[in-house]
Amino acid sequence: MIEGLKEKIRNIPNFPQKGILFKDITTLLSDRKAYNKAIDILKDRYIDMHIDLVVCIEARGFVIGGALAYGLNSGVTLIRKPGKLPYTTYKDSYELEYGRNEIEIHTDAIKPGQRVLIVDDLLATGGTVGAAIELVKRLDGEIVELAFLIELTFLNGRERLKDYNIYSLIQFGKEE
Ligand code: AMP
Repeated sequence: MIEGLKEKIRNIPNFPQKGILFKDITTLLSDRKAYNKAIDILKDRYIDMHIDLVVCIEARGFVIGGALAYGLNSGVTLIRKPGKLPYTTYKDSYELEYGRNEIEIHTDAIKPGQRVLIVDDLLATGGTVGAAIELVKRLDGEIVELAFLIELTFLNGRERLKDYNIYSLIQFGKEE
């Protein structure tokens, strides 16, 4: 656990639906020290891992992944909600902690063998990143690691992602 970041996350009970304790990262992002620190820690971790592409998941993943990719001198690939990407896409669907969703990637977004870091703001059940993994695999990208700002450990996302290296800066238990 990284000191000084966890308290920058704001809890919003019952958003976007009853029973969900939403982790609002906007309070961390708007704090320049905290945002810088989070990106710097990720940058230090990945700088020597030869990441060709940071694959970012819409939308909050873009804010983490874009800044990180700049620091790593990597490219960025966007994984977006349906209908947003203009070129031909591959699509995958998944269960969310609250609901069901689909994501897409451009069919030429990754060259076979490119070293990829997948980034999102938060790991909950692992459904979203699981679908992102399928899309990257479909394009024959080599997944180096999955990186998150936040991990909700009690939802056991790691269990379903056993085949992959996972890194998170901040962990939350059920009552936090
Ligand atoms: P999951 O697919 O269950 O791992 O959910 C992860 C995705 O849903 C991430 O893109 C998060 O932004 C969002 N998400 C799920 N649960 C929460 C939560 N409790 N607070 C904030 N975002 C969440």
